[in-house]
Amino acid sequence: MIWNNIPGATYDPKRTQIFSSGGGVQSAAITALIVLGELPRPDLAVIVDTEREKSTTWKYLESVTAPALARVGIEIHRVKKSDYATFDLVTCGKIAIPAFTSASEQVGKLPTYCSGEWKTRVMQRWATRSQGVKKAQTWIGFSVDEIGRAARMIKPKPGKWGVRFPLLERNMDRNDCLALVKQIGWPAPPRSSCWMCPNMHMREWREIMNGPDRDKVVDFERKIRLKDPDIWLTDQCKPVETADFSIINESMWGDSGAECDSGQCFI
Ligand code: SF4
Repeated sequence: MIWNNIPGATYDPKRTQIFSSGGGVQSAAITALIVLGELPRPDLAVIVDTEREKSTTWKYLESVTAPALARVGIEIHRVKKSDYATFDLVTCGKIAIPAFTSASEQVGKLPTYCSGEWKTRVMQRWATRSQGVKKAQTWIGFSVDEIGRAARMIKPKPGKWGVRFPLLERNMDRNDCLALVKQIGWPAPPRSSCWMCPNMHMREWREIMNGPDRDKVVDFERKIRLKDPDIWLTDQCKPVETADFSIINESMWGDSGAECDSGQCFI
């Protein structure tokens, strides 16, 4: 697929160009392309703070990507979700995150309302209300590995919010992104997401439960289980502090992590 020529995802100079960073590997690669002059400067650069983003994402942003963008004259705006989102954890009586549920005979998964409302809509409302944007093209860091997520986002005749995928235009996959970041001399970026995201893989859970965000996760799960005692952060359907994220468990039973198929998370 030639992404440069796809209707609805081709560079449109009449639209405000917004680099919407997800704070992870692919977004670091877009930052590197901008810094190297291989991508033109965006009109705006923004990262939405879900207020539950992993500490490692902010550490990397503050120490690596934000200073690099600043050196080429670009400010990355950090926009708080609570300033623009219309709901937090519950919407229409339902939990907004893709949590696991043990309410039925088989473990199920709740729909993902958080990504669109906490990230995409927050960025759009901020751009409209605070920056006066009329029509935009949002740069999103989907790489070749996530072509399905990108394809679902394309609208042949985009309305106010168009999209552009700079990594797909260059046929870059996640490994290419890591190589580019290494080539420019930056440390490897963390995989970004909320610290309690049920879509995390086992390796990420191991890191979270051994890192600075552990207590927040345990407290968070207890709180959501007060609203619904059948929901859990992992498919083990037991308190997260007692879940088994060991490598042995992972190799015996597989990885509980799910690929995120919506929104702009994990990039
Ligand atoms: S990282 Fe997970 S919990 Fe956070 S907004 Fe995305 S899907 Fe929701």
